[in-house]
Amino acid sequence: MSITREYNVPLSTLSTFRIGGIAREVVTVTTEDDLAEVFRLMPQGQKWFLLGGGSNIVFPDGDLDMTLIRPKILGIRLEHDIELVVGSGEIWDSVVAFAVENDLSGIETLSWIPGTAGATPVQNVGAYGTEISDVLTSLRAFDLWTKSIVTFSNKDCKFGYRDSIFKHGGKGRYVITEITLALSRELPDVPQYPGVADYLAEHNIRAASLVDIRSAIIAIRTKKLPDPKEVASVGSFFKNTFVSIEKANQLRAEYPTLAIYGIDEKTAKVGTGSLIDTMGWKGKRIGNFSLYKGNAMVIVNEGAGTRAELGDVVRQIQNAVHEKYGISIEPEPELLVF
Ligand SMILES: Cc1cc2nc3c(=O)[nH]c(=O)nc-3n(C[C@H](O)[C@H](O)[C@H](O)COP(=O)(O)OP(=O)(O)OC[C@H]3O[C@@H](n4cnc5c(N)ncnc54)[C@H](O)[C@@H]3O)c2cc1C
Repeated sequence: MSITREYNVPLSTLSTFRIGGIAREVVTVTTEDDLAEVFRLMPQGQKWFLLGGGSNIVFPDGDLDMTLIRPKILGIRLEHDIELVVGSGEIWDSVVAFAVENDLSGIETLSWIPGTAGATPVQNVGAYGTEISDVLTSLRAFDLWTKSIVTFSNKDCKFGYRDSIFKHGGKGRYVITEITLALSRELPDVPQYPGVADYLAEHNIRAASLVDIRSAIIAIRTKKLPDPKEVASVGSFFKNTFVSIEKANQLRAEYPTLAIYGIDEKTAKVGTGSLIDTMGWKGKRIGNFSLYKGNAMVIVNEGAGTRAELGDVVRQIQNAVHEKYGISIEPEPELLVF
């Protein structure tokens, strides 16, 4: 059990987008009891915010007169042969590595997503056809209203596309402390994405193992996404867009390079990166920001970017997309406002 308090920490060191002033106080806890204690000691009216790895947050420019709470609750346990019980402070990619090393399938396509295990249910992280909601069976959370630990089933989490209850009614109420994933001993199908097939062909792999699939995903992501250690971003800045089949057909006819996937008989998903890319904006510099050369959905902070300027840049991109395709695109990360 340990509670660590740090004061006056630059926000640029706490989020991968590297924007913001100073955080007055950052409290790191390592157990559920620590969490309860931190909230018990917190003065009435004190503002606070939960921070994982800061890879899906954009802080405001000024100083934050509030307490940032980081749950660093660690531990990965294997139960009933296929269940992984994971502390919320574990680094997500280490969890994927652990699963693959232990011949457990189900999360290998979620390789190399930055951040902590505890944040994965918040936006229902997803990549290459898998979402955390496909494997999460339950989670434990500290409930600030009842000051007790509660359990959520998968259904209770109200998962949607990059969405869950923890972005809505559960926000500011629950701190996720542990997640439980039901994985499988079966070898998964190879994900049907062009880059994966190319990687396997290049490496002469006919029957892909779990390790091969993880390696393929990491190789593709390394090409398409910036390494947060070197380039400041929050990954995809915009969510993909869902449109009616009629709209999808119209877009396909007019812009054959767009990435459009049928979801059901009424809906199709449009890759927002392809909307921006087809405008010729991939790699475009806009003030102190740019659209990443490997993936137009990623906004890069070139160094001196501020939150105020980012607002203008985002609006410019949204307006240009709307003007060309008649589609509204929405930011994916949490844009903190206080
Ligand atoms: C290069 C790059 C690639 C990325 N690729 C993907 C991708 O493929 N797919 C994808 O879905 N996302 C992707 N992301 C976004 C991001 O990595 C994920 O959303 C990740 O789950 C965020 O984890 P974090 O610990 O950094 O959360 P943070 O950014 O610290 O927090 C995100 C939100 O979760 C809340 N939160 C954090 N911890 C807890 C907790 N224990 N309990 C309750 N709430 C909590 C925070 O308050 C905040 O609202 C990418 C980001 C980068 C930089």
